Amino acid sequence: MNTQSNDELRELYRELILDHARHPRHFGRLDNATHEAAGINPLCGDKLRLYLSVDDNDRIEDSRFEGSGCAISMASASLLTDVIIGQPVARAERFFSAVTRRLTEEQPADFADAELEKLRALDGVRDFPSRVKCATLAWHALHSALNDEQEPATTE
Ligand code: ZN
Repeated sequence: MNTQSNDELRELYRELILDHARHPRHFGRLDNATHEAAGINPLCGDKLRLYLSVDDNDRIEDSRFEGSGCAISMASASLLTDVIIGQPVARAERFFSAVTRRLTEEQPADFADAELEKLRALDGVRDFPSRVKCATLAWHALHSALNDEQEPATTE
């Protein structure tokens, strides 16, 4: 890939992040939630609560989140709800490990799951360790919610 198309890609991703931060998808409380978890990133002040409604076939039929925080944390939560709705719980757990590994490992593997391609928009935070926690917060909350953990997920 040449430099120019890399720049174009970066610009596209930046716009995707800003769009999700300004207009979060699935924002709000989910009244019939079967699972929920809070996430806190003290370093940046991001706070969110993630709601899931899992059906009898272990499929996530709906998800919402509420909270406040920086653009990265809100965009990541918005992208998360976008990709997990309709997915089996086991696949959502694989999403959790794939995304957190991609953002934290030095030589991350490419996403094996095409569903996660749009999460590449978060790749830019890899160069900023403090922002990685903003981006992974919602994913830790997802993991906590699926495992019915009572303590809030924290990035510290
Ligand atoms: Zn943040």
